[in-house]
Amino acid sequence: MRVRCGACRTQFEVAGSGRYACPVCGSVNVVRAAGPQDQAEGGFFEQQAPPPALPRITCPECEFSFVVGRIAVATCPNCNAQVPTGQDVEEDREQ
Ligand SMILES: [Zn+2]
Ligand SMILES: [Zn+2]
Repeated sequence: MRVRCGACRTQFEVAGSGRYACPVCGSVNVVRAAGPQDQAEGGFFEQQAPPPALPRITCPECEFSFVVGRIAVATCPNCNAQVPTGQDVEEDREQ
């Protein structure tokens, strides 16, 4: 991997993480291998709770199980039956 000397900005090649003396100015540079653990230090890649999964319902007609979005009534992709999802959705309240 290629690193840059912190003292003189000379780029030189190193084998990996460790301590390396700059070939130009002799300053010892500490090299840390770039890896997933380094990315996590930033805090942007911390594991968070996954978003709530979309509800999965089972068609009463054919017992096909499928995932639905935020809709009150879903159409079964297997038998085209209208299946209430049980969700309280503000739209589609005409019935
Ligand atoms: Zn240097
Ligand atoms: Zn069905």
